[in-house]
Amino acid sequence: MTMIFQHAEPTTIPVQNSEQTFPVNRIFCIGKNYADHVREMGSDPSDTPPCVFMKPTDCLVVGNGDLPYPSATDDLHYEGELVVALSKGGKDLDRAAVEDAIFGYAAGLDMTRRDVQAGLKERRLPWDMAKSFDGCAAISALKPKVDAGNPHATNLKLSVNGAVRQDDTTAKMIWPVVDALVHLSTLIELKPGDLLFTGTPEGVGQVVRGDRMDVAIADVAELSVTLK
Ligand code: MN
Repeated sequence: MTMIFQHAEPTTIPVQNSEQTFPVNRIFCIGKNYADHVREMGSDPSDTPPCVFMKPTDCLVVGNGDLPYPSATDDLHYEGELVVALSKGGKDLDRAAVEDAIFGYAAGLDMTRRDVQAGLKERRLPWDMAKSFDGCAAISALKPKVDAGNPHATNLKLSVNGAVRQDDTTAKMIWPVVDALVHLSTLIELKPGDLLFTGTPEGVGQVVRGDRMDVAIADVAELSVTLK
């Protein structure tokens, strides 16, 4: 048997201070995971629990450099996020199994067609095309968990052209990393290579072509990309 066409090579992420690379399996994302961000989007966090959505793996842009400006939006938003990378998987994991499955952490950008999302929300439709497009996510090199300090309570900063727009602690997550992964493993079998974008704090906003976005997560990683 021969394949009709050659499948693309897996997207891989470099590991800091290492020759190893991390092959990406799937990209899960948490929405509405910081109360102040839920409020800035016009909702009440007390009756708007976090949610899970996905992004296509081949839309991930790895490392510093250029990020393509997508089609079909006039209101592209940045969302700076802590990303968790799994090197083991499983179904119905307990907290110890989740901690064992985590390989490391990275700084990421969940890019969002906010105008498309607003239209979909208004019609109570899924968010897919607001969140999934070429260049819809960016990620830094991974920091292995043994070197990552305490990413569950660290500073997350995002700047646009040098001006700080997001500056908060990852300790404010409504679903903290381990809780989120325990929950996710009840919904789907997690696999090695899965990534989880853990949601964005308040301060999201629009970016245009030429803007540079810097995401810095203390003791984890930094990412710098420019919209082209
Ligand atoms: Mn997000």
